[in-house]
Amino acid sequence: MGVFNAREAANRQFRDPVTDGYGSTFPFSRGFFTDVNIPLWEPYRSEVLDKGMVQLYYGCFVVKSKGKIVLVDTGIGPGPISTRGDKKGDLLNDLGRQGIEPEEIDIVVHSHLHIDHVGWNLDLFLDPPRPYFPNARYLVPSIEWDYFTRPENLINAPWVSESVMPLETLSLMDLFGGGFNVTDEITSLLTPGHMSFLLNSGGQKAAIVGDAIHSKVPISEPSWCAGVDIDKTASERSRRDLIERSVSQGIILAAGHFNPDEHFGRVHRHDEAMSWETV
Ligand SMILES: [Zn+2]
Repeated sequence: MGVFNAREAANRQFRDPVTDGYGSTFPFSRGFFTDVNIPLWEPYRSEVLDKGMVQLYYGCFVVKSKGKIVLVDTGIGPGPISTRGDKKGDLLNDLGRQGIEPEEIDIVVHSHLHIDHVGWNLDLFLDPPRPYFPNARYLVPSIEWDYFTRPENLINAPWVSESVMPLETLSLMDLFGGGFNVTDEITSLLTPGHMSFLLNSGGQKAAIVGDAIHSKVPISEPSWCAGVDIDKTASERSRRDLIERSVSQGIILAAGHFNPDEHFGRVHRHDEAMSWETV
């Protein structure tokens, strides 16, 4: 997880990144980018793969904007998460290391409702569960709410029942759509089933990409889609859009699933090839 405020982000003065624990490993082809043939990985093997596996980290972002402290996504949660090799998250401790108490978070906003983005919503060890961020409004994309609360989808997403739906019962939750201003400086950008966030502070711009870009490799290979992408054409389109914004406008991208040392960067184009420059 990285921490910055909108103005600092634009000025490239980042505070130390913090993470929600460390990521899971996936077999690089069949396990994550399921449609990509193994030989196509060869140019990226040494730079991106670790022991032949894709590393996926669980980054969230804190944005200090207009007097509010906004937390974008809540990571994998305290765990242990059985589907992720019993990983445990560390978000609250990492916030603490950044000098941020849970009570100070004003807004929690979700890019989408996958298990690795809602983990620190509610303390499920308490009965009844209570919000980890007691003074926050929790903002949920309406497109994701509509999808996951359908019985046929909810049955496969128990984390939504546990960590998202009680927020509505507790009257802590609001739904939002594309073009929504989280603050005057943070605007949601609808991509199908998912939100990215555009930051604009005094004309300086950045974007939190969410799951539109899972790793550095799709910067160079935007047609590579993760197995979790339901609409791969739309996924590729939104990935190319964010990359193009970074190339043409020089905006900083914040990518939570990248290695914590590489969460913030810009995309450069050399001839037709794209590359990630960590900032
Ligand atoms: Zn994700």
